[in-house]
Order: sequence, then C-alpha cells, then structure tokens
Amino acid sequence: MTHPDTMAVHGGREDLAALGVHVPPIDLSSTYPVTDLGSGGDSYETLATGGRPEDERVSSLVYQRLWNPNVDRFERALADLEHAEEAVAFASGMAAFTASLIACVSAGTPHVVAVRPLYGGSDHLLATGLLGTEVTWTGADGVAGAISARREAQGDDTGLVVIETPANPSLDLVDVRAVVEAAGDVPVLVDNTFATPVLQQPLDLGVALSMHSATKYLGGHGDVMGGVIATTASWARRLRQVRALTGGLLHPMAAYQLHRGLQTLPVRVRAQQESARQLAAWLSEHELVEQVSYPGLDDAVVPEGQMHGPGAMIAFSPRGGFDSAAELVTRCELITHAVSLGGVDTLIQHPASLTHRPVEERARPGEDLLRLSVGLEDVEDIRADLDRALRGGASGCETIEP
Ligand SMILES: *Cc1c(COP(=O)(O)O)cnc(C)c1O
Repeated sequence: MTHPDTMAVHGGREDLAALGVHVPPIDLSSTYPVTDLGSGGDSYETLATGGRPEDERVSSLVYQRLWNPNVDRFERALADLEHAEEAVAFASGMAAFTASLIACVSAGTPHVVAVRPLYGGSDHLLATGLLGTEVTWTGADGVAGAISARREAQGDDTGLVVIETPANPSLDLVDVRAVVEAAGDVPVLVDNTFATPVLQQPLDLGVALSMHSATKYLGGHGDVMGGVIATTASWARRLRQVRALTGGLLHPMAAYQLHRGLQTLPVRVRAQQESARQLAAWLSEHELVEQVSYPGLDDAVVPEGQMHGPGAMIAFSPRGGFDSAAELVTRCELITHAVSLGGVDTLIQHPASLTHRPVEERARPGEDLLRLSVGLEDVEDIRADLDRALRGGASGCETIEP
C-alpha cells in the first residue's frame, strides 16, 4: 500500500492531471443544470437519499446541498488516510456528531452509551437529549453492562457507543478494541480529533465511525471550521441522507482548505508531537507543576497497537490550584490563551471555565487543569514562555517549597 505521507499529498487528486490542472478547481455552484425532468428527478432522488454521482441514475449534481466536488475530494482523501470505505463531511465537528445521533434516533435506536470524558460540546449535546437521544454514562469497563441493562429495561434500542481517545481535555486513553468487543452488535463511534489518522485508525480496531472536528488538526491553521466522519459505505449513505435533509454542509471553500490541510498533516503532527514529547517530560519534572497527563509519559497506559505516537496535546496542573492556572494563562505571551487546538501555533486554555463549562459539575475537569496544544514554534521558545508563566503566574508560589 502507498505510504500515508504520499496518500496525504495526493489523495482526492487522482483526476487533476486529466483535467490539466495542478490544484483542485473550486466549484461554488449552488445549483447545477438538469436536462429533462426524468433524469433530473432520478438524480435528485438518488443524491437526496445518500447515493453518489457514480450511480447510473445520476446525470446532474442538482444542488450543492446534495453534492459538491470539493467536499467529495476532501472526503475521499480523508477516507483513504482512515482506512475507511467512505467519509462524509459537515459544517463542523458538532454537525458531524449531530448527524450520527439523528441517524440513530431516526432508526428507532435512540439510546447512546457514552464514556466520559468527551469534548464539552458532545457531552452537553448528549446530556441535554436535544436530539431525542437518551444517554447512559459509563466507564470504559461498563459498556457491556450498560447495553444489557438497557436491553432488559427497555428493549433493543441502543444505537451507538461513543468514546473519545485520547480524550479532550484530560488525555485519558480508552482501549478501543475492548470497547468494540463489549459493544457487540452496537456500532462504536470514536472521536479521533486528538490522534488524527496519522496516529490512529479506529476503523482498523473495529469501530464503525471515526469522527473529527476537522477544525483542529486536519485544517491545521486555525482558519477553517469543519467536521468529518470516516466510516463504512452503508453508514456513509445514511449520514449523507441526514446531511442532505438537515443542511449541516461543509462549504466548498472550507473543503478546499481542509483538503489542502491534509497534505501537510503527517509532517505537522510529527513535528508538533516531537515538541510535545520534550515539553511533557520537562513539565513533569518542573517544581511548579503538580501533574502532567500525556500518552508519551512513562506512567501512561497505552493500549497495545492502538496509537502510532502520543500526539501533541498535553494536560497539566500547575501547583497552587485554580488561582495558579488562572494566572498562568494570562501570563503567556508567545502562547495564545484561546480555545481550539491542533493548529500551527501553540494554544493554552482552562477547560473547566471554557470548552467543558457546559459539562455537569460532577463530570467537569479539575479546576487546576490546563490544556496545551503544542504548535510548530521552536520548542525552546515555547518552553521559555511556559517557564516564565509558571514562575510569574503561580500566585503565592513563594509559599510553595521547591
Ligand atoms: C472541537 C472538538 C469538537 C467539536 O468540533 P467543532 O468543529 O468545534 O464543532 C468535537 N470533538 C473534539 C475532540 C473537539 O476537540
């Protein structure tokens, strides 16, 4: 098989040479001409129910909400990297998650088993039941029990098991193969945003759906929002139908940017990961740091054969609790105090106050926890900024014994 680095550069571009162009042309058409009513209607029906233009009944793309060539290119490139049959892209990570939940509810299987921690928005969407889902929260070892308890109480209506590994924000790891086995017939969705397909291919581990906030590493430059799910052909059809009906579309310009982002994804992830390794090791020895969570540290329990590397996200707690954390983020100069992650520049944020604020209190991240997304700056510059912020920022640090 072609090396993933090569696939990242060339995926979804197979027909460019024949078109006589070097980069994908951007197609902004909101509508497409149809010839006669018969073939136009066939095209509409096929695409609106999740079909693809390769279907012989399709002679026109009809309407951008049903199909767009730039979105298709990005999807094909991402599917290859994820070892998936297909991928379906959306306006954001939350739109992607929404589509998978709506697919479950509309199939009469609204019960979701979810393992915390999840991204704050995903947690909140499940906790509110806004889309008609009913959630059972459990630990990774409680998945089989949660499914069978529901079956006894309510019947066979569990539609999805949702996990995130490495998890946002704590970097907790879940053994994907064990969860897949525990889930039995119930499909498993893994939020693969933190690992990216460079470091983890969940479909190889038996899951049905690998989801991304493409806003993060896939785009990689903090200038585009999107979401995507890599999956089987049959799930892709269901998700495209939901997308066509609910309209959570990825814009063609955003698809172009995300497709371009994939070309440098492996190089970015590896470079950012190398800096993160060094920073995590240094932080874990730092006198003003209480605790560090990073899959590359000695104390991390990484399920065998699951990840190709620890990634570039770090969670840590400065000594001195909430006050130290709150001061630290405002003292960073090179590092930007902002939510989001996975871009070329280093970001830091306080999950309990921001990304995970909507999470119910008992499941909210610790008040002292900070999340660091390591960027592409020189690692010594990042380290110097953090060190200064730690030393200047630890309120009452004079009272802490070194
Ligand atoms: C950001 C994020 C999301 C939500 O994605 P959006 O693109 O912001 O809608 C979902 N999961 C994880 C792990 C995230 O970091």
